[in-house]
Amino acid sequence: MLVDAHCHLTGSYPEPGALAAALDRARRAGVNGFIAVGTDLADARAVLALAAGRDDVRASLGVHPHEARTWDSGTPDALAALVRDPAVRFVGETGLDWHYDLSPRPVQETVFRAQIRLAREVAKPLMIHTREAPAETLRILKEEGAGAVGGVIHCFSEDRAFAREALDLGFHLSFSGIVTFRKAEAIQEVAAWAPEDRILVETDSPYLAPVPFRGRTNEPAHVTHVAAKVAELRGLTAAALGLITTRNLEALCGWAPSS
Ligand SMILES: [Zn+2]
Ligand SMILES: [Zn+2]
Repeated sequence: MLVDAHCHLTGSYPEPGALAAALDRARRAGVNGFIAVGTDLADARAVLALAAGRDDVRASLGVHPHEARTWDSGTPDALAALVRDPAVRFVGETGLDWHYDLSPRPVQETVFRAQIRLAREVAKPLMIHTREAPAETLRILKEEGAGAVGGVIHCFSEDRAFAREALDLGFHLSFSGIVTFRKAEAIQEVAAWAPEDRILVETDSPYLAPVPFRGRTNEPAHVTHVAAKVAELRGLTAAALGLITTRNLEALCGWAPSS
């Protein structure tokens, strides 16, 4: 039992049948649930269509900070209608990315704030993306009252001080393949220390393949390597970690895969 708490399944498998094959490989590896993330309105619709056809896929829909520049006057109502679907378990990914700066920072902030308000309105947890803007991300989460719904700091790659603040706000920490990288000591320390009921694992595939696949295309089956690393850091078996993180996801979003 193991859930990939954050993966991109749309647009990542252009060949016919490739997505189904990747999900089959994941299932054979013991991964039986997937939170599929949509990053703009068109992608959100594609993710929702995918989730509608599979019991083991649920959706996280939002406008990624990279795509914040696409947000216009019609986006709030369109996104609000999509996230009300019962298959949608999270709002996002949303947040700040000051590494790539693909959208202007003030626009990222406005769009982030709007999605926190939407999550509160529909009472669903947030899926947070944050890169090189830790203080600003925490400040906005606090100012907008994000603790009322909580959520996930996805692809956790900050330090222990950030983790402490995010946990205090009611957020879960989701570890990706980065935790398997040799130089990721600070993240490994958080993965070893974080409260057992607040940890998740993910691939963020097709990005960020864990060791021993680093540099190659990632896929949900590889969340087993992330789980094995976090389990090792915490002195648990991989099976125990799978159970713990599946229960944590269920406590957070009300869904766990049935088998
Ligand atoms: Zn992200
Ligand atoms: Zn992502």
